[in-house]
Amino acid sequence: MGGARQIQAMTAVRTRFAPSPTGVLHLGGLRTALYNWLFARRHGGEFFLRIEDTDRQRSSEAHTKGLVEALGSFGLDLDGEPLLQSSRVERHREVARALLERGAAYRCYCTPEELAAMREEQRARGEVPRYDGRWRDRAGPPPVGVKPVIRFRRPDAEEVVVRDWLHGEVRYRNSQLDDLVLLRADGSPTYHLSCVADDHDMGVRQVIRGDDHLNNTPRQLQLIEALGWEPPEYCHLPLLLAPDGRKLSKRDEATDALSYLRAGYLPEAVLNYLARLGWSHGDREIFSISELIECFGREGLGASASRLDPDKLNWIGQQHIKTAAVDILCEGLRAQLESIGLNPEDGPPLEKVVEAWRERAETLAGMAKAARWAFSHEVELAEKAARKVLRPAAREPLAAARAALAGVAEWSAPGIHACIAETAESLGIGFGKLGQPLRVAVTGDTVSPPIDTTLDLAGRARTLERLGAALGYIEARAAAAAGSAAQG
Ligand code: GLU
Repeated sequence: MGGARQIQAMTAVRTRFAPSPTGVLHLGGLRTALYNWLFARRHGGEFFLRIEDTDRQRSSEAHTKGLVEALGSFGLDLDGEPLLQSSRVERHREVARALLERGAAYRCYCTPEELAAMREEQRARGEVPRYDGRWRDRAGPPPVGVKPVIRFRRPDAEEVVVRDWLHGEVRYRNSQLDDLVLLRADGSPTYHLSCVADDHDMGVRQVIRGDDHLNNTPRQLQLIEALGWEPPEYCHLPLLLAPDGRKLSKRDEATDALSYLRAGYLPEAVLNYLARLGWSHGDREIFSISELIECFGREGLGASASRLDPDKLNWIGQQHIKTAAVDILCEGLRAQLESIGLNPEDGPPLEKVVEAWRERAETLAGMAKAARWAFSHEVELAEKAARKVLRPAAREPLAAARAALAGVAEWSAPGIHACIAETAESLGIGFGKLGQPLRVAVTGDTVSPPIDTTLDLAGRARTLERLGAALGYIEARAAAAAGSAAQG
C-alpha cells in the first residue's frame, strides 16, 4: 500500500448508522447513531444513514420514515440522502458474481431437506451443526431442478483477527466459521454481503455499531479481503442495560428514543445523557452539543455495559433547561401545554412561565404540569392542602387580601408583593401566613414559585375568582363543622 493512500485511509472519517426499519428508534440505536455522528463531526468527516430494509417482511416504509424523522428530531443531520439497502440488490449480486469469478465463492445445490439431514447427523455425532462444504469443489453437472445458493469459500487461514477500538484484538478460529450464504436461491443477498458491499461503496471508514455484531465481523473481514478491499476500523459498543442491570427489552417503554422528547426532555439533554452512557471526558457531566463534538473521541469510550439512570437523566435535563435559549423552551412548553389539553394563549406569556421554573424543572412536561393552574379555567384543590391551609382562620386574611388585590394599580410581581405585605401588616400577621392560603387558593396546592410571581402568572381575574371560590370553600367547611357540632 502506498504511503499517500495509507495516510488518506487513516485520516478519512466516514461513519454510518445502519438500522433495520423494523420498529421505532431505540435508545441504544440513538446512542450508536450519536457516536457515529459525533465522531464524524469531530473530525470534519461524513455521517451517513443506511436503512437495512432487505428483510421485506419485517421492514416497513413507515418505520423508515420514523427513523429518519427521529434522527432529525434529535438534530443528528445526515450527509447525503438516506440509502435504502433494498435499492442496491443488483449491486450486491454483482459483488457475489465477482467473488464467483475469483473462485472465492461457489454455487451450492443442497436442498433444504439435505441441509436439515446434514444438521441432524452432526447433532447426532455431538458436533455443532454447520454447512460441511460439500459443494466447494464438486465437479460434474449440477442436479436438475435445484436452484443454487452462492456460498463464500471461507479462506484457509488459521484464524481471523478483528481489531476493535474497544475490544482490542479479538481472535476467531477460522474453523469455527462455515461457508456462509451470500445469495439465496431466489437471488436475494444476505446481510453480510449487503453490509460489506454497501460500506465499501459508501466509503465508510469507521464501523461503530452494537456489540451484538462483533461476531459478524470476522466473516465480513474475510469477505472484504477476498474482494481486495480495505477494511474499515471497527468499534463495537457495549449494551445499554435497564437500571436494575437486566437486558433492555424492546418492549420497555424506556427504549423508545422519541418517548423522551414526548416526556419533555430537551433533545440535547437526551444526547448528553446518552453520550455519557459509554463515554467519558474526565469527570465532566454536562456538555452542549458543540462541546460534545469538541470533546468526543475514541479514547473516552468505555468497554463495559452501562445502565440507564433515570435520576441522572433528570439532573442532566434540569441543567440543560437552566441554560437553554428562552425561545426554545417556550416552543417546547407550548407543545407540552397543548398535549395536556391547555391553551398556551389563555394564560401568562410563556417567557414568564419559563423564567419562573427554569431553575427547577427537569422536563418541559414537568414545567407544563406545574404551571397548569395559570392556564386552566378552574383550579382543582388538592384535598390535603385545602384541609390544612384553607381553614376558617384563613377567611378574614383571604377576604382582606382579595379586596386589596382588586385595587392594585398595576398587576405585577412588585405591585402584588407590596399589596400582600401591606395587608399582612394591617392584619398583624406575617407575610407567609397570608402567602400560603393565597397559594393554595390560586394554584390548588402548596408548592409554586414565590407568591407574588404566582399571582402575577395567574392574572388578576383568575386570582380574584379563585379567592372567591376559596372563601366559599371555607364557608361551606365552617357550616359543615357547625352542623356536625349542633348534631353532636
Ligand atoms: N442493521 C443492523 C442492526 O440494525 C446493523 C448492522 C451494522 O451496523 O453493520 O443491528
